[in-house]
Amino acid sequence: RGGAEDPLFAGLNPQQREAAEYRGESLLIVAGAGSGKTSVLTRRIAGLLRSGEAWPSQILAITFTNKAAAEMRERVEALVGQAAEGMWISTFHSACVRILRREAENFGYLKSFTIYDSGDQRALIKRIIKQLEADTLGFTVSSVSGKISNLKNELADVDSYARTANMDDPNEVMFIEIFRRYTATLSAANAFDFDDLIAQTVYLFRAFPHVAALYQRRFRHVLVDEYQDTNHAQYALVRELTRPVEPDEVLRLEEQGQHVERLRDVNGAIPGASLTVVGDSDQSIYAFRGADIRNIIEFERDFPRSKVILLEQNYRSTQTILDAANAVISNNFDRPEKKLWTAVGAGEKILGYTGYSAHDEAQFVADEIAKLREDGMAYKDIAVFYRTNAQTRALEEILIRSAVPYRVLGGTKFYERAEIKDVLGYLLAVANPFDELALRRIMNAPKRGIGPATETALASHAEREQTSLRQALRDARQLGLGPKVTTAIEGLAELLDEAAVLAGTAALEPGREATASAAPPAPVAQVLQLLLDRSGYLEILRNSRDPQDEARAENVEELLSVTKEFQRNNPDGTLVDFLTEVALVAAADELDDTSGTVSLMTLHTAKGLEYEAVFLTGVEEDLLPHRMSAGEPGGPAEERRLFYVGITRARKKLHLSLAMTRSQYGDTSVAMPSRYLQEIPADLIDWKQSPGMATSRGGTQPRALNARRVGGSTREPDALSPSNRPKREWPNAVTNQVRDNSALELAVGDRIRHSDFGEGRVSGMTGEGAKRVAEVQFDAAGRKKLLVKIAPIEKL
Ligand code: ATP
Ligand code: MG
Repeated sequence: RGGAEDPLFAGLNPQQREAAEYRGESLLIVAGAGSGKTSVLTRRIAGLLRSGEAWPSQILAITFTNKAAAEMRERVEALVGQAAEGMWISTFHSACVRILRREAENFGYLKSFTIYDSGDQRALIKRIIKQLEADTLGFTVSSVSGKISNLKNELADVDSYARTANMDDPNEVMFIEIFRRYTATLSAANAFDFDDLIAQTVYLFRAFPHVAALYQRRFRHVLVDEYQDTNHAQYALVRELTRPVEPDEVLRLEEQGQHVERLRDVNGAIPGASLTVVGDSDQSIYAFRGADIRNIIEFERDFPRSKVILLEQNYRSTQTILDAANAVISNNFDRPEKKLWTAVGAGEKILGYTGYSAHDEAQFVADEIAKLREDGMAYKDIAVFYRTNAQTRALEEILIRSAVPYRVLGGTKFYERAEIKDVLGYLLAVANPFDELALRRIMNAPKRGIGPATETALASHAEREQTSLRQALRDARQLGLGPKVTTAIEGLAELLDEAAVLAGTAALEPGREATASAAPPAPVAQVLQLLLDRSGYLEILRNSRDPQDEARAENVEELLSVTKEFQRNNPDGTLVDFLTEVALVAAADELDDTSGTVSLMTLHTAKGLEYEAVFLTGVEEDLLPHRMSAGEPGGPAEERRLFYVGITRARKKLHLSLAMTRSQYGDTSVAMPSRYLQEIPADLIDWKQSPGMATSRGGTQPRALNARRVGGSTREPDALSPSNRPKREWPNAVTNQVRDNSALELAVGDRIRHSDFGEGRVSGMTGEGAKRVAEVQFDAAGRKKLLVKIAPIEKL
């Protein structure tokens, strides 16, 4: 191992270094905010690559956001250069989409499946509730989508849910019917919703072990950041990916021409991937999405031979900021005591401010930003956090007026605009001929006289003929509709078919392979241009007198430039690649350029990030803790963790602000200071009053606080295909076998002794000759499968 001067490990403290260099089956790094968890993961990856212990393609690193993934990739590249290409560093969702695109055909999906975002999901559920008149039973879109999402995060499907449900309860029966239709519609549309991406990957791995085995043997090192926020489905996915490949699966891989001998261990299995997870249970803020802190607490039980490393030194913040964070979080029960310390020194006090109104508060933010600028701080080093998106309005107004450049992270709802959804609808319909939602969306956009009655006629034709809505468009002439509308429908059908040929997706539709062209797929921008030109969508917006339409036309043109940029970055990128990127970026965070701007974001988005100066706004009861959390068990504790996350993002200067009145939910109400403010020792905060308040600056608590003390794709070479198999030796090779048990007679019921596992009884035998696999129930070590030929066993 390199000495202290090794640049890869330079400056790491002993615990960090141990974590970066540890080699074993599984490693858990638990530590508070800013202690270098993410940094250690990055160095660990760099170390594995540089030493040749792993190839890039054998590494799977999971981050919480796309932004975090991009940053980690950059840092690894900075440490080891080119050697980093081909690594999978991505979010759970992106990794699963990649796997599903490759493997979808194994379970009846086209690889051009559509990803439904929450808007699509809501539209679909709304339609189903209406069909079933479920609203009369009190079902709402939100209640249904929330419940379906929770179930999927628990890996429950309709059937498994129905088995345990109380069928005497009409609400249960109705919910199951909604869930069933929802599931059926998605699968008929060749679509997955967001939760499916994870759950269906787990399902795929469980249903098709030989598919799972490809990934289990491929990824030798799995690393997960922000592990405290994984939900059950994500946890199951990690377990599937890091499981050993059993000997019979190894044999099947070999039969398929996969050369995996070198990865085999003495029992003929491929050992599980090494797993590193890092997390901080104090930063678990996604319980509402099914995140389960138990995943971190139970890690040691599930991975019994895992090593646990604690990090305690914080490198991010001043002692003042850490003291405030420690004081707040120590009010949560049920947590192991951990005290963060820093060598940075006390630093400046926290600056507090109580505004009369949200505008007043926003003015404070703008004024302080101006001061920070005078002191030489760059805009990019400043962030403003809030609990709810609604709070941005006042902030944005004042920042615009004060000429402060800013950007709202994760809030740019570009992809949710109607015109963008329309245009994407065209692309989706071209990529996925079964995407009915997309087709219905564009059928009459722009208006071509296809009204609800015509749509129904087309849908019933499709149902009668057991075909797709898309095919129904092609069959328009058989429907006996008026000549004008028939021509319009045929025109749309032809346009989509032509675009599909151009995009190279025509061959995907069963029965229409013959229409496909042999030419390579055209660039996405060209496909989009064809659709816009021929549908007239853009021209109609441009010629409209509605001033709003001008902005809409600009947005559509913006999308056109997004496709061009995509093609520049991904010369071989297909339409499906483009749509994947859009779906993932639109739903998660934006890869926004914040190089010259102040960043505005919700506290949830702030996780994992850090800024020189942080403004934490709206520190009021009903916002923080949010009033929705009040009635939930664990709600206030989770909100406290959110506050803790916010505080610990700041490196040097923290501002806490609130307003005495706030307009929310349509009316203006008196706001009360957050209970969490009381938990910060008073001497850490300098309170600066709002203009016109009784006392001059310094020392005094804000009036409201006194008034009421509140209690309490670059394409990597496919390492799986033999032709791309590198010439070098597999790292991690564990085979060295000289043993040959070919002649050993073995039958069910025989007792054997294994050099590692001790004694056991053979409970099953499969395969023949050199491919015999014994399943053995060991007295102490549990059930194992062994490749008889090479396993270190003897018959008793
Ligand atoms: P969070 O819990 O917020 O995700 P984290 O534990 O992942 O935080 P990092 O983001 O990895 O912490 O590190 C926090 C800051 O400390 C970063 O700016 C990082 O560069 C710096 N840092 C980490 N370790 C060291 C070290 N040994 N020496 C100097 N700086 C360090
Ligand atoms: Mg981190």
